[in-house]
Amino acid sequence: MALRPDSYVVLNDGHKMPVLGFGTYAPEQYTKEQAGEAVKVAIEVGYRHIDCAFIYGNEVEVGRAINEKIADGTVKRENIFYTGKLWSNNHAPERVRPALESSLKDLQLDYMDLFLIHTPVEFKPGDDPSPKDENEKVIFHNTDIRDTWKAMEACKDAGLTKSIGVSNFSSKQLELILSMPGLKYKPVCDQVECHIFLNQSKLLRFCKSKDIALVGYSVLGSSRAEGWIDQNSPQVLEDPVLNQIAKKVGRSAAQVAMRYLLQRGIVVLAKSFTAERIKQNFQVFGFELSAEDMKRLDGVNNDMRYLSIDSWKESPKYPYHDEY
Ligand code: NDP
Repeated sequence: MALRPDSYVVLNDGHKMPVLGFGTYAPEQYTKEQAGEAVKVAIEVGYRHIDCAFIYGNEVEVGRAINEKIADGTVKRENIFYTGKLWSNNHAPERVRPALESSLKDLQLDYMDLFLIHTPVEFKPGDDPSPKDENEKVIFHNTDIRDTWKAMEACKDAGLTKSIGVSNFSSKQLELILSMPGLKYKPVCDQVECHIFLNQSKLLRFCKSKDIALVGYSVLGSSRAEGWIDQNSPQVLEDPVLNQIAKKVGRSAAQVAMRYLLQRGIVVLAKSFTAERIKQNFQVFGFELSAEDMKRLDGVNNDMRYLSIDSWKESPKYPYHDEY
């Protein structure tokens, strides 16, 4: 079926996730108010899927923007798909529900549509989102991720979130949850980095075989936040093959980069705080890439990851030691 602005994927728990989501993370030079303003523009343009997280520090502003758009009649709460994420200092089972409730309070929402474990990497439990030792090294922790998952299941049962899922998990880490004795709910998705340089074909095949949606982030090549991302890494939107195809089909490189993933059944997140680009990035439904162009874009893949976060490599739960 042709993709349309209101297309969605049916998740393995029956809920529906719009195939295009709006990203709200921005590096520190942006204000949190800009995130809120951008969310309002995005909702006006037609986005119904908003991706946020505790650690982005903007839940108050993003929640306020959503509520303003509900109050002015642009959208109804039930037509917004809101994703939030559990940060790494809250994997201890007894900390999961309070973390979700605290986010809901900041957002001024009654429930989330989707709550994700942000990353399998876990820090020392506590109120410090980035606990460090005397040598300024992150203090890792190793709660059994299955115990965290049980606490996530309880949040769904309590009606605090409609769906639960994971982010940045390898297939092995997903398997660990899928093979849990007494598993009540499978993760509905794995939200991972995904773009023409890291097309995630193996993880996608694995997820499809388990009825888990793959949600892609940094599809435009990331926000290139200093301190997180190698500033010398190649830029998705400058890739010559991508630009040749964009020129041929009369679309922007960003639109083709997004469309490439959508046509492979991937849910796409895209961030922009620029009104024109927010609009442009929503115009990805009125054209189709040919099988030949899809194949050419497949050929650009070189498994390059922007967000490998080398300082987390010592975590026993670091996901990227696994092939996929
Ligand atoms: P993206 O790949 O979406 O790229 C964002 C950058 O691209 C911004 O600098 C933006 O600039 C620019 N841009 C946007 N549209 C265009 C366009 N049409 N032409 C040219 N440049 C454009 O970055 P993110 O890494 O932020 O990923 C998107 C979202 O995914 C995040 O906001 C977040 O919600 C989520 N995410 C999740 C992670 C996880 O661990 N689960 C990790 C990283 C991201 P400008 O704003 O100035 O327009």
